[in-house]
Amino acid sequence: MIKKVLIANRGEIAVRIIRTCREMGIETVAVFSDADRKSLHVRYADEAIHIGNSPSTESYLVKEKILNAAKISGADAIHPGYGFLSENADFAELTRNEGIIFIGPSAESIRLMGDKISARSIMEKAGVPVVPGTTEKIRDTEKALEIIKTIGFPIIIKASAGGGGKGMRLVLKESESLQAINSAKSEAKAAFNDDSVYIEKYISSPHHIEFQVIADKFGNIIHLCERECSIQRRHQKIIEETPSPIMTEELRKEMGEKAIAAARSVNYEGAGTIEFLVDDKLNYYFLEMNTRLQVEHPITERVTGVDLVKEQIRVAAGEKLSYEQSDIFQDGHAIECRIYAEDPDNNFMPSPGLIRKISEPMGFGVRTDGYVYEGYEIPIYYDPMISKLITWGKIRSEAITRMSRSLGEYYIMGIKTSIDFLKRIMENPEFVQGVYDTHFIDTHKEQLFSPCDNVKEIEDLAMIVAFMEHMENITSGQDLSLYPNFSNWKLQNRRKNLSQQ
Ligand code: ADP
Repeated sequence: MIKKVLIANRGEIAVRIIRTCREMGIETVAVFSDADRKSLHVRYADEAIHIGNSPSTESYLVKEKILNAAKISGADAIHPGYGFLSENADFAELTRNEGIIFIGPSAESIRLMGDKISARSIMEKAGVPVVPGTTEKIRDTEKALEIIKTIGFPIIIKASAGGGGKGMRLVLKESESLQAINSAKSEAKAAFNDDSVYIEKYISSPHHIEFQVIADKFGNIIHLCERECSIQRRHQKIIEETPSPIMTEELRKEMGEKAIAAARSVNYEGAGTIEFLVDDKLNYYFLEMNTRLQVEHPITERVTGVDLVKEQIRVAAGEKLSYEQSDIFQDGHAIECRIYAEDPDNNFMPSPGLIRKISEPMGFGVRTDGYVYEGYEIPIYYDPMISKLITWGKIRSEAITRMSRSLGEYYIMGIKTSIDFLKRIMENPEFVQGVYDTHFIDTHKEQLFSPCDNVKEIEDLAMIVAFMEHMENITSGQDLSLYPNFSNWKLQNRRKNLSQQ
């Protein structure tokens, strides 16, 4: 049995893992960089070990430092969370070589699925449909130009080592090809130190639908149904929901079986996600496999009742899965909104800084997974996601109105956030009807982005700051209930004025 887990991560996911460990009676060890001394994950863990300077290349990404911290603290397992070293096969191998349990799949599975091109070939062999395109790495620009012509437009060029939407370029016509190849290659080189690319047919109106799987060491693999992740900015998810509005019972069964076949083909162990693109005729194509816990795992937990971190720990310790496929069904509907410290009206520019006030939503069917608090300064060094808001409803419309209500209550002062932007999506008639694809944000930009010019925005902010300070004097910070109301009033007031202009 695992007694002590080191969490090789930070922020909300470290806090989330610590919570489950505590419930299981497992001790926890946090690691932290200079910038994270005051992070909630450091406070919540039983022990915390400093691992270096603020940049992740000098702390969270340094394998030796993490392994040393595990040895010093006597941890018998490492949970990598997502991002950082979670899909680093060498790290999984080194961890196991030290006699420490890596809570995740084998290094071999990570390697096979981590390379998007080898994953495509493996899936083809396993009978899982893949997006039409190349199954080899392309380094030579001339060769890429030739291949593009044979596939036919539109196509998408992708970095072999890709992730986070980086190194991806859409090409609509031949004249755009050369520039697209060159810019995809240079972005890939900068982000992954590997400029090889591959080419796929561009699916024009797709849904991004993924299946959660989990497997034990005895060959038992189940899926936990789908997550619909088509609301994206710059090819990155910002809202996820389950069930998918376009899913049918037959399609779920078929795609679920393909997801299990995909996992089985690489002898998968632990939790993983098979991502698919689904076109407007409900044809589905394998996109990639993520060999770790996903950011959006809580919506699956909410509708299936399965604590995925608990199952990850159990199977890593050599126990059998606690569930069979027939135990899994979706109860109601769950939505997740990712709350970012960023400015949607300024090209989603990160907005780190000091949290002066925060009031998080609560109530029936609401979960927040976060790590920030009043007086906390969000560091500039890491991903700007500060929390995830998850709502549940018996039916989809109830989950949406609950999300809208919760976003209205969510109040953060001191930094810009995506909260108002997300609320506008919840109120968009087409989103409410479930009619959307991965182009939703582009299609609805007129309604979703604030039409204010900067001067108006600054005036509004100045007014808000003055008002908040006034309120603070009156309440001495005691009566936070006033703030959410004010947040709603500000939004409606501004939008009303604009519509009258
Ligand atoms: P990454 O690993 O960088 O996140 P993915 O391959 O998972 O990249 O793709 C991210 C998103 O990009 C998808 O969810 C989808 O919106 C878009 N996308 C990727 N491939 C295609 C394609 N062949 N056709 C249309 N859209 C695509």
